[in-house]
Amino acid sequence: MSILVYIESEEGKFKKASYEVASYAKGVAEKMGTSVTAIAFNAGDVSELGKYGVDKVLNVNSEKLKNFNAEAYSDAVKQAAEKEGSKVVVLSQSANSKYLAPLLAVQLEAGYASNVVALPESTDPFTVKRTAFTNKAFNFTKISTDVKVIGLSKNAYGLKEVQGDAAAEEFSPNLSEEDFSVNVESVDKATNKVTIADAEVVVSGGRGLKGPENWGMIEEMADILGAATACSKPVSDMGWRPHSEHVGQTGKPVASNLYIAVGISGAIQHLAGINAAKTKVVINNDPEAPFFKAADYGVVGDAFEIVPKLNEKLKEFKEKNA
Ligand SMILES: Cc1cc2nc3c(=O)[nH]c(=O)nc-3n(C[C@H](O)[C@H](O)[C@H](O)COP(=O)(O)OP(=O)(O)OC[C@H]3O[C@@H](n4cnc5c(N)ncnc54)[C@H](O)[C@@H]3O)c2cc1C
Repeated sequence: MSILVYIESEEGKFKKASYEVASYAKGVAEKMGTSVTAIAFNAGDVSELGKYGVDKVLNVNSEKLKNFNAEAYSDAVKQAAEKEGSKVVVLSQSANSKYLAPLLAVQLEAGYASNVVALPESTDPFTVKRTAFTNKAFNFTKISTDVKVIGLSKNAYGLKEVQGDAAAEEFSPNLSEEDFSVNVESVDKATNKVTIADAEVVVSGGRGLKGPENWGMIEEMADILGAATACSKPVSDMGWRPHSEHVGQTGKPVASNLYIAVGISGAIQHLAGINAAKTKVVINNDPEAPFFKAADYGVVGDAFEIVPKLNEKLKEFKEKNA
């Protein structure tokens, strides 16, 4: 009755979030005295998962499952859980996993807890800590169903390396035509840039930047740091930046390790989307800007002076440490 973890990959490569869910599954397995089985779709080399506590990988190799398909994937994960006798299934909180998890919970007649941020407080009864109210509070949730589905918040647990090897096993679930009633035929990526959801660092600009012509220094900082660019709502509403960059209550959520906000006031609706970011740095010329209360580090000053200087220093640092 191993712990089952759903591992996401893109073009055969595992995402960083996958190593975090694997590490978390290992933590749960240790608490419950059992092993970890992963299920992956069309994954290449699965041995890397052993370093994060996975004992066995069920690899589903199927051209039909090349693109994410919630119904087919949930059916496959359910069959893997049944095959392994898994009582706990762990997933990330990526957009795809958030879609998959409730379907899976219905199929397994399982209780589902999303936004989990720590190992279970206890496994009998099974109680997990979760964030609530856009990360402003925690709650403790008891799941009393036989099977439990856990959605782990990004960057909540981290990567924990262990000594280990993952054995690979081919897995061919029985899928019906019904599973493919809605099917992604192909994916055209809009950009090769790192996305807000995947980014470890996000550099974000607000109305304080005065106009779209001033975004060069934000993009430069993002390039140096390998970061995604983001913005506040009015900035995208005014068409200075694409809507895909708008973060906050009505935009995208950010759970990066570092969030750098330039010329953003820190309105409650903006903060609602970035509370889960680990370290927040704010650059604003108004010392009374509300963002400073939510920030870990703050620079009071003119963005047009500070950001170019910071970019120079970051470049120097990067060159020295390359
Ligand atoms: C229902 C609802 C939902 C909303 N959802 C969202 C959301 O999802 N995301 C979101 O962002 N907003 C959202 N908003 C809007 C939100 O309330 C704020 O209006 C918005 O976040 C403000 O954007 P801003 O900080 O870029 O602009 P401003 O409030 O205009 O702040 C600009 C900041 O830049 C600073 N500044 C000016 N010049 C400089 C300079 N030279 N150097 C450094 N700093 C400078 C100023 O001191 C100021 O703090 C929502 C509002 C509502 C009512």
